[in-house]
Amino acid sequence: MAKYIFVTGGVTSSLGKGIIAASLAKLLQARGLKVTIQKFDPYINVDPGTLNPYEHGECYVTDDGAETDLDLGHYERFLNIPTSQANNVTTGRIYQTVINKERAGDYLGKTVQVIPHITDEIKNRMLLLGKGGKYDIVITEIGGTVGDIESLPFVEAVRQIQWELPEEDCMVVHLTLIPYLKAAKELKTKPTQHSVRMLSQEGVQPNVIVCRTEQPLTEDLKKKIALFCNVKPNAVIEAMDASTIYEVPLKMLQEGLDVIVLKKLEINGYAAPELTKWRAFLDKLKYPQSKVTIGLIGKYIELQDAYKSILESFIHAGAINECKVQIVNVHSEFITHENVKEKLKDLDGLLVAPGFGNRGVEGKIIAVQHARENQLPFFGICLGMQMAVIEFARNVLGWKDAHSTEMDEKTSHPVIDLMEDQKNISNKGGTMRLGAYPCEIQKDSLAYNIYGTATISERHRHRWEFNNKYITDFEKAGLIPSGKNPATGLVEIVELKGHPFFIGVQYHPELKSTVENPQPIFVSFIKAAKEYSEKKNTVKTSSLQGEMSS
Ligand code: GLN
Repeated sequence: MAKYIFVTGGVTSSLGKGIIAASLAKLLQARGLKVTIQKFDPYINVDPGTLNPYEHGECYVTDDGAETDLDLGHYERFLNIPTSQANNVTTGRIYQTVINKERAGDYLGKTVQVIPHITDEIKNRMLLLGKGGKYDIVITEIGGTVGDIESLPFVEAVRQIQWELPEEDCMVVHLTLIPYLKAAKELKTKPTQHSVRMLSQEGVQPNVIVCRTEQPLTEDLKKKIALFCNVKPNAVIEAMDASTIYEVPLKMLQEGLDVIVLKKLEINGYAAPELTKWRAFLDKLKYPQSKVTIGLIGKYIELQDAYKSILESFIHAGAINECKVQIVNVHSEFITHENVKEKLKDLDGLLVAPGFGNRGVEGKIIAVQHARENQLPFFGICLGMQMAVIEFARNVLGWKDAHSTEMDEKTSHPVIDLMEDQKNISNKGGTMRLGAYPCEIQKDSLAYNIYGTATISERHRHRWEFNNKYITDFEKAGLIPSGKNPATGLVEIVELKGHPFFIGVQYHPELKSTVENPQPIFVSFIKAAKEYSEKKNTVKTSSLQGEMSS
């Protein structure tokens, strides 16, 4: 049996519970323990797959095809191990299971209630990953804020687990905010006291308090928090704002969070933390040798969480290239033929983002055309790849109304079409082509150069696909389908002959980039952007020299 750590949040949302949970997990992993993290979300949606990115940020997808909360992305990026269906559970999923059991008659005539039936189902799922010997420690992040009505059954389940398990097998870390009042020049502990009191009223006494703060906590303040929140002074941990989320594990190490946890869980004989790779990554991240500017063309750019994994992948790929990647967000809805040159003029590379529906697609197509015609490094992901296919069909093959049937059902050239097995699907939840599928890469291609292997596996989330009816037309004209699903022939990768770096992928490579394993396409894309930028600068300098000598 594994040991369990629960992470709750108080005072306000957006404190970064996911990052604290992932940082603690990283430290325990670095000390030789096998750790996983799971997230329990209190909303009624069965999963976040049907949520608009504006509501909930990016929908993260696991290898086994679960549509999950974006925190799972952090867990994978930090721990470098995959998560699965079991790592994200919502209230909706709990109720769905309980109601299905009720309909099947499994409760044998009993009245089905929140306690014990809902809480039992929550507990089963909370303990599930810890059975089977795969992990020493399971960290469970409880979504929402303590005091919310909807998270009550989760907190009650934690209370029961704490009561059922031996003292040393379970603990609670509570993340809270210590606000700084500028006018009073003081850090305030009262909101934290209240949130811990609320948690205690629900029957859960935290063992560790992690305090998000903009100012350092003095020893006196820590003592005060400890006294009023009923924990030992060394169990009050300062979590100052960090310049990057990847610094948080080192800050937590300094504060001794992992040691307190190991003591409470009575885990002895642990190794010193092995963080050499992590530190090397951070060094490269902090001291880049060069800089590139990448345009992120999307329609959800007001909300950066919508492209979380893409942005993090750029951080990983930048670090390994010792290059700062500056992202310029370009709203695709406002790109026109008239302004495209001006809008994209400072870029060293262009990424066209995934997406759904009609809004903003014409701007994406115009941006692709600009990259294709100006030798600007281009990387299209999912819808971004589909837009590259449409652009090529319209402007190179001359099929003026070429489109995806997602946007135009009547187009005479449906170069992107609904997948056959999607045609009879009416339910929206969990029905896309989801999760990891293999892809066979053609040798002598850019993709093969990038991956260095012919068989890869990447994760998917889409309903439309490249229409194979047109494959030879595209190939003849220079857009090469260089990667295909070996079983179905579905085109997974397209690339452009004669262009320094032009690649579109039907899958989501950003979902597999981690600190220790930066995703290869992102790494090569940044390399190409660096070369583009160097070339641009040489041209600038030589024309400047020309001007000065003439
Ligand atoms: N809307 C497109 C499809 O479903 C692209 C999806 C995406 O970008 N994730 O095929």
